[in-house]
Amino acid sequence: MSAETRTRPSYVLARAEVRAVERVSPSFVRVTFGGSELVEFGTPGDIYDARIKLVFPPASGILPPVARDTDDWWGAYLAVPEEERGSMRTYSVRDLRVMDASTEVVVDFVLHLEPGLTGPASLWASRAEVGDELLIVGPRRGREDRNGIEYAPGGASSVMLVGDETAAPAIARILEDAPRDLRGIAFIEVPAAADQLTINAPAGVDVHWLPRGDAAHGLRVIPTVLDYLGDTGHAEIVVQDAEGEDLVWETPIYSGSGEDVAPTASGDNRYFWIAGESGVVTTLRRHLVKELGIDRAQVAFMGYWRRGVAMRG
Ligand SMILES: Cc1cc2nc3c(=O)[nH]c(=O)nc-3n(C[C@H](O)[C@H](O)[C@H](O)COP(=O)(O)OP(=O)(O)OC[C@H]3O[C@@H](n4cnc5c(N)ncnc54)[C@H](O)[C@@H]3O)c2cc1C
Repeated sequence: MSAETRTRPSYVLARAEVRAVERVSPSFVRVTFGGSELVEFGTPGDIYDARIKLVFPPASGILPPVARDTDDWWGAYLAVPEEERGSMRTYSVRDLRVMDASTEVVVDFVLHLEPGLTGPASLWASRAEVGDELLIVGPRRGREDRNGIEYAPGGASSVMLVGDETAAPAIARILEDAPRDLRGIAFIEVPAAADQLTINAPAGVDVHWLPRGDAAHGLRVIPTVLDYLGDTGHAEIVVQDAEGEDLVWETPIYSGSGEDVAPTASGDNRYFWIAGESGVVTTLRRHLVKELGIDRAQVAFMGYWRRGVAMRG
């Protein structure tokens, strides 16, 4: 590696242009981004649940002038005057097609447009047109340190993936990148039956879509997961309202609440990946860890959004 390569920031902050917009279902719009600044974005290969940041323009429509030559992209973003900053939100890469200057990044946006329950990202996606621009922050090409990827089943013999519509793109990417001999099950709660998207999953993974209809978030997926795991005696499900503004983030190697994450040897050869609304994930965590006794070192619990709370990056 040359000295020049070593000192380059490991993130790319790129201006990206909408190349295609496809309303793939009632709740999802699929946006393909391209543009010459994506030339160094992303490493081809296994992406799994890699997260990226998107910066949506403020009302002026002018993208914020965020400094490029730094790894402190968050500091650089905050250095822009607030009224020029627009909004930053976290998304998953549904697809990455690396073709040098023609590289394309595909993102599946959930449309949540109810009055009082929408936000800048969802609104932007609902109006996106070819030619619109935003900023994308993600790993620079050639990085192979798995930064931003949480999915890590190690040598598990089976996996369970659980999520709501915001986690559906990550689950889809995980299953399409996974070895073809992976075994396991996925439960994905979505607003409507028509929101079941195509996933090219390994033959040994059963994918179950759970339309919630008029039910509250979590009320389809929580009992389904508990029944599947043999917790048939559970009482009526009460979805916990997580406290504070932080999203729950407890993985085998990181604890947002400061719990001990020392490795254990439980003998449990399953791996669980659970993401979605923070209160729903917290409720599942309580049942799995406290009631079913599943080793927390086998589970990644990740809040992707919080009911009633606008994200800040
Ligand atoms: C690692 C990671 C990966 C993610 N990947 C994706 C992805 O690929 N696709 C995707 O669509 N989202 C994804 N999300 C979730 C997304 O970042 C949040 O939904 C975000 O709040 C959307 O921003 P917004 O500006 O639309 O709403 P905000 O301004 O953040 O919130 C405004 C209001 O909308 C509510 N709200 C936010 N999201 C939803 C929702 N989905 N349904 C109903 N109400 C909602 C909030 O509770 C709040 O009341 C991901 C989040 C993380 C942390």
